[in-house]
Amino acid sequence: MKKLTEKVNGARIAERIDQLSRCSEPAIGVTRLSFTKEFQCAQNMVEQWMLEAGMTVRKDSLNNLIGRYEGSNPNAPVLMIGSHLDTVIEGGKFDGMLGIVTGIEIVAVLFETGIILENPIEVIAFCDEEGVRFHSTFLGSKAIAGTLKREELEVKDDEGITLANAIKELGLDPLNYKEAARVPEEVLAYIELHIEQGPVLQAEEIPCGVVTGIAGASRYSFTIEGFAGHAGTVPHTLRKDALAGSAELVLEIERLAKENAPIVATVGKLSVKPGSSNVIAGEVAGTIDIRDTDERRKRKVLEAIFQSGEEIASHRGLKIHFEKVMEVSPVLCSEELIPIIESSIRENGMDPVRLISGAGHDAMAMADLTKVGMIFVRCRDGISHHPDEHASLEDMEIGARVLLDTVLQVIHSKVAAKTEV
Ligand SMILES: [Zn+2]
Repeated sequence: MKKLTEKVNGARIAERIDQLSRCSEPAIGVTRLSFTKEFQCAQNMVEQWMLEAGMTVRKDSLNNLIGRYEGSNPNAPVLMIGSHLDTVIEGGKFDGMLGIVTGIEIVAVLFETGIILENPIEVIAFCDEEGVRFHSTFLGSKAIAGTLKREELEVKDDEGITLANAIKELGLDPLNYKEAARVPEEVLAYIELHIEQGPVLQAEEIPCGVVTGIAGASRYSFTIEGFAGHAGTVPHTLRKDALAGSAELVLEIERLAKENAPIVATVGKLSVKPGSSNVIAGEVAGTIDIRDTDERRKRKVLEAIFQSGEEIASHRGLKIHFEKVMEVSPVLCSEELIPIIESSIRENGMDPVRLISGAGHDAMAMADLTKVGMIFVRCRDGISHHPDEHASLEDMEIGARVLLDTVLQVIHSKVAAKTEV
């Protein structure tokens, strides 16, 4: 007899990923911002597939689409599977969509085989994870986790439309946002399958991995003040070159990050003033993005960066100033779910690889509600947020099998519902 997980249909997953990618603004890649007609188009498709997989479907007050496959005990806590349906501008077709399509696929396998598990399963297509339209991430998952704040309804898109108005235009009442919130006792766990968006699984030559945590990110800006001068007349001993000082700082940040792997630190932007080929740079403004799942280690590296900055500045006669722009705490995946996902990976003939996620996911917000687990699927050359983003049909199918195995194990082992947050 065929094993249940062998009924997972990779071709159906690939076909649906392709179909969804057509719900896009006319541009290269996929552009589908939340609360738009492209988004509505994708929701309609997903709703149809959920219905075909034996689920009842509803939209909550924040326009999250939720398909529910009833359990034999409808009062048992629900196992949630989900990801996001919005994309970045000119993004790929797998980021987010893969978690929704594979979630529907495994429910379809259960439905088509006539299997009803004890706990209900809900597949959630979140309304806005990327934060492209309203510059505020995890709107849908925060609403479900009960952490969305009233003032977040007033965030505006570039045309000045507030989130509240965008919700109203769909015929939903934004003031009902609290009704989207779920309570921890009603939820067994949240599992998200996502493309890796990095190159580790490809380098390890393995289709799937288990995520141990999602890195917290700190963003700082820095300004280095020197003194502008003539590129021909001022000797090096008398210069206060803000760009040379910044260059030293950038290399020092890289050295500190490498020394404290797996931490990653990036200076992605430098603005040089006055910015002329024949003028010594008088001022440089830059950004630092630093990510780690270990908050203490991240803090230690940040302190070292600040200290190096001061030393470089004093050595070169410059002034330096750092300012915090944003801080998001890291999230650890559930210690109960990690071994279950690992055994599912083993069950599918692979040696499990543990990895951390440097990118944020809905699972970060859902961790405030329940235990979270994440499965990563290999993506070609680690490319993501780009039209060339790609996951193979075979890898997606293996990922879905691991997801199904995980769901079966979680429901059979009854991971205790989280009672305190
Ligand atoms: Zn994503």
